Amino acid sequence: MVAEISAERSKPGWATFSLELNDEQRELQEWVHDFAENVIRPAAHEYDEAETTPWPIIQEAAKIGLYSLDSTVNFFIDPSGLLLPIVSEELFWGDAGIGMALSGTQLASSAIFANGTQEQIVEFIPRCYGTEAEPQVAAFCSSEPDAGSDVSSMRTRARYDEATDEWVLSGQKAWATNGGIADIHVIVAAVEPELKAKGQAAFIVPKSEVKGLEQGKKLKKHGLRASHTAELFLDEVRIPGRYLLGGKEKLDKRIAKAKEGSTGGKNASMSTFELSRHVVGAQALGIARAAYEYALDYAKERVQFGRPIIDNQGIAFKLADMKVELDAARLLVWRAGWMSAGLMRGKPVPYNAAEGSQAKLKASEVAVRATEEAIQILGGNGYTREYPVERMHRDAKIYTIFEGTSEIQRLVISRAISGLRIR
Ligand SMILES: Cc1cc2nc3c(=O)[nH]c(=O)nc-3n(C[C@H](O)[C@H](O)[C@H](O)COP(=O)(O)OP(=O)(O)OC[C@H]3O[C@@H](n4cnc5c(N)ncnc54)[C@H](O)[C@@H]3O)c2cc1C
Repeated sequence: MVAEISAERSKPGWATFSLELNDEQRELQEWVHDFAENVIRPAAHEYDEAETTPWPIIQEAAKIGLYSLDSTVNFFIDPSGLLLPIVSEELFWGDAGIGMALSGTQLASSAIFANGTQEQIVEFIPRCYGTEAEPQVAAFCSSEPDAGSDVSSMRTRARYDEATDEWVLSGQKAWATNGGIADIHVIVAAVEPELKAKGQAAFIVPKSEVKGLEQGKKLKKHGLRASHTAELFLDEVRIPGRYLLGGKEKLDKRIAKAKEGSTGGKNASMSTFELSRHVVGAQALGIARAAYEYALDYAKERVQFGRPIIDNQGIAFKLADMKVELDAARLLVWRAGWMSAGLMRGKPVPYNAAEGSQAKLKASEVAVRATEEAIQILGGNGYTREYPVERMHRDAKIYTIFEGTSEIQRLVISRAISGLRIR
């Protein structure tokens, strides 16, 4: 019996499960960590206070190839699905505001990657990043003042002008990361409003080529202050027909199906969110780890009642809980990352229980809790801007709000596990 079991276990496949990073993954992690520690961290406080886009750091990242088309393609086509979460965790460990200034472009480039034709991918993704000498950022604009969680109520319209083979876009976008400072804007708009989300499509709108695209107010924020967030106005913006992501034939087919009442298909912004949710979780994880590490060091140094505060279970247990929660969140993020790359391995892994949403939900809530506990461990110092955990706490909060609030993630998960239309 024992011999049979051991023969079975020597077959290929038995030992393939591993949580150990391979050499490439570890080297990448170390490379990004080094950049985060030596370039991002020292500038974090300054950019948070100034609330400006850290162009010199984007340039620095472009120079070493970290902010570039090549590295992005490398992360997107990674068959393990772990490269993007690993890179994101390290960047945001450095600083979340600067991390977002470097990562905001990804939302637009992944929308193009997920929904674009080969020609659109080749033409527009490089333009999202610009060149080493002159890097660019890109923006993905779905949310509107009255359409945040409820993307189906979007009012921005796109109509096709057959005479000129152009799309004409009008409307308003809200909270757009990089909105107005980007050249490439991916704008989601309603083509057939009565079909709600199924009648929407995504369009490439390069600011340098169009008239009528204007940045509105730049928002002053609670956190992520080095990342630019703004309103955007589109007034009869004309773009060539070929700037519709995925092409008109595909859109016409999708709309025809929706009109027939078919329940299949996916809408443009939802497929982008699916692809990126665990990556957003990895960003939150980076903030949580930074706060945990800072608090752990501080607790070993800070002496009260004649002993380091970590000697008290009241403090040590907080750190133990932070560590357990962090590691649990990372496992969910890595699982969803691995699942997201199924197609790259030639064997798609179905998301049966909204595993991407699980990862994002858990990591966001861990980040908010860990940064709050870090402030508690630092006491009065934690509450001041002299110490970084206060900034980390402000930065962490957005993770329970954007890319689907925690409530919306719970809605998605509960629908997936129940098969019911929970409201
Ligand atoms: C810094 C920042 C950057 C952003 N970047 C971008 C970007 O680049 N591109 C982009 O398109 N958008 C972006 N957003 C917008 C973001 O995605 C939205 O703010 C988010 O989706 C929530 O929408 P809302 O703010 O309208 O909240 P609402 O939808 O009004 O929600 C308010 C509250 O009601 C709850 N709620 C709503 N519906 C339900 C329900 N059915 N069940 C239970 N609870 C519910 C929510 O969970 C939340 O707690 C950004 C926002 C911020 C703050």
